[in-house]
Amino acid sequence: MENVERDILEEVVLPEDREGILTSKRYSTTAAGSVRREIRLSFCDYGGERIRDGEQTIVCCEDQKKLCKSHAIRYLERHYCPDCLQRHLPLSRLQFKILHGLIKGLQLSDIKELVRSRTEEFRAALSELKARRYVEKKGVSLFSYYEIADRGVLAWKTYSLAFENSELAHFVEEVENHLKEVELSHVTRSNRERH
Ligand SMILES: [Zn+2]
Ligand SMILES: [Zn+2]
Repeated sequence: MENVERDILEEVVLPEDREGILTSKRYSTTAAGSVRREIRLSFCDYGGERIRDGEQTIVCCEDQKKLCKSHAIRYLERHYCPDCLQRHLPLSRLQFKILHGLIKGLQLSDIKELVRSRTEEFRAALSELKARRYVEKKGVSLFSYYEIADRGVLAWKTYSLAFENSELAHFVEEVENHLKEVELSHVTRSNRERH
């Protein structure tokens, strides 16, 4: 019997489809008497990314989804998947951009130009930020302006990490470039005034 050795151990690698279960190995004996080794690889339950061996596996504290690094968001000392976090701390991408702009000291009109969103969309996002107490309207009528509130700072900080590698990184860069341009135009103006 030349196949004996090969038949003693059967190995199968399968994706782990049970939520919240980490990479696992299981041995069983087949009817033919050989040993079957089942290795189940671990994938992110949120985005489907393979979670590499040795990588710390993070589990959402609410729905126990196992998460890759980029889908585990830390909020108040616990880890959440993006869906569960949205329930506790709702924030859209557009709203993140508005908060980011305010933190960087931009005027609403500048932010609106940078995000390139439609007026109604921008207004709706802003009024939701206000309703959720992420921002506060200060001053009266013509002289009113928006200021970021503590909860807004918390939301901004929480999502900054979550959005680090998304298209929002590009927006953050655009804001930096805009600020440099503004600074540059101030320098040019004050130089001109001096002459
Ligand atoms: Zn993931
Ligand atoms: Zn979750």
